[in-house]
Order: sequence, then structure tokens, then C-alpha cells
Amino acid sequence: MRLIFSYMNKFEALGLGEAIIKAVNDMGFETPSEVQEKAIPILLKEDTDIVALAQTGTGKTAAFGFPLIEKIDSSSRITQGLILSPTRELCLQITNELKNYSKYIPGLHTVAIYGGASITDQAKQIKRGAQIVVATPGRMQDMINRKMVDITNISYCILDEADEMLNMGFYEDINTILSHTPEDKSTWLFSATMPKEVSTIAKRFMQTPVEITVGHKNTGSKNVSHEYYVVNSRDRYAALKRLADANPDIFSVIFCRTKRDTQKVAENLIGDGYNAAALHGDLSQNQRDLVMKSFRNRQIQMLVATDVAARGIDVDDVTHVINYQLPDEIETYTHRSGRTGRAGKSGVSMVIVSKSEVRKIKSVERIIKKSFEKKEIPSGEEICQVQLFHLASDIGKAEINHEIDSYLPSINEVLEEFSKEELIKKFFSVEFSRFHNYYKKSRDLNAVNERESNSGRDGSTRYFINVGEKDGFDWMTLKDFLKEVLEIGSDSLSRVDVKESFSFFNTNTEHQERVLQVFEDFRMEGRKVNVEISKDSGRRGGRRRRDNDGGGFKGKRRSDGFKPKGKKRFDSKEDRGSGGNQKRDRRKRSDRR
Ligand code: ADP
Ligand code: MG
Repeated sequence: MRLIFSYMNKFEALGLGEAIIKAVNDMGFETPSEVQEKAIPILLKEDTDIVALAQTGTGKTAAFGFPLIEKIDSSSRITQGLILSPTRELCLQITNELKNYSKYIPGLHTVAIYGGASITDQAKQIKRGAQIVVATPGRMQDMINRKMVDITNISYCILDEADEMLNMGFYEDINTILSHTPEDKSTWLFSATMPKEVSTIAKRFMQTPVEITVGHKNTGSKNVSHEYYVVNSRDRYAALKRLADANPDIFSVIFCRTKRDTQKVAENLIGDGYNAAALHGDLSQNQRDLVMKSFRNRQIQMLVATDVAARGIDVDDVTHVINYQLPDEIETYTHRSGRTGRAGKSGVSMVIVSKSEVRKIKSVERIIKKSFEKKEIPSGEEICQVQLFHLASDIGKAEINHEIDSYLPSINEVLEEFSKEELIKKFFSVEFSRFHNYYKKSRDLNAVNERESNSGRDGSTRYFINVGEKDGFDWMTLKDFLKEVLEIGSDSLSRVDVKESFSFFNTNTEHQERVLQVFEDFRMEGRKVNVEISKDSGRRGGRRRRDNDGGGFKGKRRSDGFKPKGKKRFDSKEDRGSGGNQKRDRRKRSDRR
């Protein structure tokens, strides 16, 4: 109890009233985020303009939402607050959040206004009384012109994701919309970045705004680690599939530069048996809602999206953001990687680049003030091992279906001659052979960098070790652990790759014997630690094989068991969806929504 009170006090200390505090408790917020801590007291105390800069995922919605709700007079039906946001998805997301925040305030109504849905329905909702209107600029203009909404009496105007609204060319719309609002209102501008256009709008529409900045401008979330993979442009799509296959529990947003690439990559993934979907501006409102719903429900594991469509979308527990291509404007990378690592969770942002783009990684590093780790596209062998252990651990965790009990005697009869070990082998062979056959001849997708391949990384051995994240390791701590038990220097250890229940690492081949000897009988907290030479160990120095690395592989697993894999995904179409065409990449902005 004491604890709960002290949490409550943190929000109460900001000056928030009882109704909101109750809602905050329901939502499970414990401590205010930095932007909330800075913005809320100011906004509650005075009617001022404000410019607040904070990276994505830092809780900006509540930073303006809480004080706005406190200030609204819910006994009056007049529209008092207007929130402009760049996309329909965001508009709905903000509306939902505000409804949550205000659920203990009877009579307070928040209505969302956005294109692609019935304007008369929205007008009806407004007519019933909406103290807060959340709108996209286009539909807002439309409704003002048709006199379906009256914003001439608002006291608060919030520009959320201002940088993105301006990016999308909404400057004129904002200008017109604001011309219908009273002079003496307060304007609150929230943005992740502060490009020139945003300061222009601040100068133009605001009076001596209070400025607050959280963290470094343009810095990404600190829970996100950044990785890049260098491949030949034509291997982009095949590389994407490898990254997905090497992370069986992936729940990701994949960013492409254009609507066309977005659609194509999604279609190819679907054709190859992945649970994927596209999100971009050419889809109807209904289609987009459906996609977002399936993504939130985890029916979609890989959401392929344009920057604009995915902007600000807040879905919990996204494990990976994959940059299928780097964005044209480097600043956009912050928004992309901000889709993961939210609410204190950790996440990975991966970038697939061609050799000619590697230098761009440096520019991104300067902006996010964090460094990237160069990683290797996993080999087929490695992916097979990952999937195999994933399957084993899923089987271990599976709940037993007692429907089969009555068939058990006859099943036992069929299988009685086999030992447990044989049964396991047979079971895995059924589940796994096609996967294995598919990947066994796959080639190395990593673009060969001449300098690096001469720098002594060949002549190393790759190992598999049966400890991983679940034992508390990350790549740094595992490297330290190996250094210590093997008594070798960090120079001799490379490519330490930690997965959930196991990992891989390389040592110089001269240490091979020592490694195997040390781990011959090694126990950690009573458990036997197993190290084996991974079969693809020699591949780095070797010539690239010309073998096919076809359609990609993804089991359409369902919680009720392991489905045999569909045929389609064995098709050899690895160059589909490649974004390598330079001409195509120079698309005009309208193709990015
Ligand atoms: P931003 O607009 O800055 O990108 P959001 O307002 O969308 O961020 O918030 C990101 C997520 O964090 C949301 O799921 C929100 O519910 C959650 N959140 C916001 N504030 C808090 C808090 N104080 N404690 C815990 N979670 C929070
Ligand atoms: Mg936001």
C-alpha cells in the first residue's frame, strides 16, 4: 500500500486531480516520464504557449492530455480543445488515450475527425457535444468549410507530431485552420525533432512559448540497440527473410521508402508464408484499421509500412524495427527506431544497407548519438539451429491437449518399437527436414568487404553454446564470460551473437582445441554448458557459393501446434522486392505515405 501511495503522489505532486489520478492508476503508470514531469505543472499552472521536444515513446500524449483534460469544462458542451495530428492512426490513438485518461470525468467527450470515414457520422458526434476534437488537418479543413465543427471558441490548440505534419506538407492547412481559432488561445506544440519548419511555425503562431527539451534533440530511445547488415542490393529481400527466420518470435515493423516497395515486400512475405501485411496511404481507411487491429492482436508478425503511415504508432512490445531501406531524410530514422524499445522495454533496430550506403550509417550515428554494431546476416545453418531450439523450447512449453488421450493406445502401438531418443529424432525430422533442406545449400548473403576479409577474420571457428539471454547474458557479458573461462584476449573472440536460449561466437581457429577442452565438462550453476563447433564455421573466408537461397522460410505456427509448412515458400524468388533500383528510389514525396 505504501508503495502505491508514493506512486500516486508522484502524479499528484504534478498537480493532477483525483479523477485523472484514478485513471492513471488503472493504466498502471507509476512514475511520470520526464516530458510529463516538465510539461504538466507548467500547463496546469498557467495559460501559456509551449514548445516541447521529446523523442518518440516518451509519453507526450499524456504530457498534453492530462493538463488539457484538467482544464476542460466538462459541464459546457462547447469545443474547447483541438488536437491536430498527422495521420488517421495517430488521431485514433490519441483519442483512445484521452478517453482512457478521462474515463472518470462524466460528460467529457473526445471525438476523432479523420478522412476516409463517414463525415456525417463524425459531424453527428460533434453535434452531440465534443469538448475535445482530435483531427487530421485535411478532414478538419473540410468540416470547417462545411460548418460541421466550430472551433472559434477553443482555448487550447495542440499540434502533435508537428515535425511530421509539416513534413507531410500540412503547413497551409494548419495555417488556415488556425485562422479560425481565437487569438487568445494557448498553443502547445509537441514534436520529436525541431527542423527549421517547426521553429518557423512556432514563431508564426505562438507568443513567447515556454520551451522544454527532453534528452538530446533527435536522440532515439536509450533502450534500442542499432545494428546494420551489408548486403548486395539484389539480396535485400533474401536478407530480410533471414533476419526474420533467425528471430522466430519476431514482432516487427519493416520500413520501406515508397508505397510501392512497401506493398511489394509485404506481398512477397505473404507469398512466402509469413504473417505479414502492408500499411500505406493507398489503402482504404477500412483496410488500414483492419491491418492495425491484426497487428495489435499479433495476428500479423511483420508490418511493412511507409514512414508516414507508421508515424507515431504505439504498439507494445515491438521487438524489431527493420529498415529495409534507409530513409531519404536521415532524421526519419529516429522515428522509425522509436517504434521499438517503448515503455522501458528493449528493442533492436536493424538496417539493411548496400555497400555504397554504409557511409550513411555514420550520419545516422551522429544524429542519434549512438553507435551501430555491424552484424552478419545469419547463415542457413545458424537459422536452422535457432529454429530447431525454438521448436524444442516451444514443445517443452506446450500445453497438452487431452483430446488425443483416447487415441493414445493405438498411437502407442504404432510407435512402440522406438526409444525416446528415436522418437525425438523422428519428430524433429518430420517438423524440420523441409526447413533444413531449404536452408542447407543457402549461400552467404553478406557483401564481401575486401579489406575485412583479409584482416584475419578468416581462420576463425564458429561455435554454438547453449546459454543465452534467458541465462542473463547479452553479447558483452557473454564475451566477458568467455574471455575469462577460456583465458584468451578479446581480440581472439568475435561475432558473439546471443539468442534467447543459446548463442554463437567465434574464436581464432588456433584456440579451437582449448575451447572444446574447457567446455568438455563445464557446469554453470549445476547445469552442463555445451559448446559445439557450428557447422558453418569456415564460411567467412570461403568463396561465395552460387547456390540458390530461395523463397524464405517461415512456419505458420499457431498456438495449437506445429503446422506442416506450405509449399509456396520454397519457391525461389529471392530477388523479388529488391529495392536496389536507384531510379525507383528517387520517388517523389507523395509516394511515401
Ligand atoms: P510519444 O507520443 O512521446 O511517442 P506516447 O504518448 O505514445 O509517446 O506514449 C508511449 C507509451 O508509453 C504509451 O503506451 C503510453 O501509454 C505509455 N506511457 C506514457 N506515460 C507513461 C508513464 N508515466 N508510465 C508508464 N507508461 C507510460
Ligand atoms: Mg505521440
